[in-house]
Amino acid sequence: MPHVALVTGGSRGIGEAISKQLKSEGYLVAATYAGNDEKAAAFTKETDIKTFKWNVADYQASVEGISTVTEALGPIDVVVANAGITRDAMFHRMTPEQWQEVIDTNLTGVFNTVHPIWPSMRERKYGRIIVISSINGQKGQAGQVNYAATKAGDLGIIKSLAQEGARLGITANAVCPGYIGTEMVRAIPEDVLNSKIIPQIPVGRLGEPEEVARCVSFLASADAGFISGATISANGAQYFS
Ligand code: NDP
Repeated sequence: MPHVALVTGGSRGIGEAISKQLKSEGYLVAATYAGNDEKAAAFTKETDIKTFKWNVADYQASVEGISTVTEALGPIDVVVANAGITRDAMFHRMTPEQWQEVIDTNLTGVFNTVHPIWPSMRERKYGRIIVISSINGQKGQAGQVNYAATKAGDLGIIKSLAQEGARLGITANAVCPGYIGTEMVRAIPEDVLNSKIIPQIPVGRLGEPEEVARCVSFLASADAGFISGATISANGAQYFS
């Protein structure tokens, strides 16, 4: 039986590359998304990977969505908590709404995604949990107090889950990408990218989503059973944690 993998935000950006990588390795993949129906439909047409729509910030929607995925594909062996957003502003201008939206999606969203799957992983004594954190959760970033807080929080989640899952065959790890050329990063004005961001990356370029996806596929594999509570940085030598 192929392993079943759930990738939140799996229809575009880094998540799309992760979904495709896992499918190419024989996983049965379910990719979730929030609202971009057009992109999700095009993704399914191209890849034949099923998509499911729910808001990871909503616990009940996550429970129901995960139950639908399980009915369609079987119990989930690998969960990649990838869905994430930015609402950047310098701290003195950041609104409580900008703070809360990012906390709800990037941090509570990880709880909402993993918590409903955890009991079945415990019962079946197998699971691979991979959270997509960020270099900015490791080092902090001006203009991203909200985002950096969630991405640092994600590391606390995987380190704690690693301990709880250790004797149950469940691993929990994080990948911390640096700047990757997805819509999230391409939304940054080009002059800022070229004058401020790329010069800070020693390899001299943005990362590719596929480079993150290959880290995830390794952590998802049965061979990675002795790796848990770990963080893989994929950032072009920009930061060493
Ligand atoms: P994109 O903006 O390209 O894609 C985000 C994906 O997440 C989309 O599929 C989107 O769905 C989905 N999503 C967003 N909000 C929700 C929600 N509330 N519920 C369900 N799904 C949601 O992001 P990236 O691919 O750039 O980023 C993916 C992850 O990687 C994020 O966690 C991000 O923080 C992290 N990261 C990205 C970096 C980068 O350089 N790009 C660097 C470091 C970390 P829809 O298509 O419907 O909008």
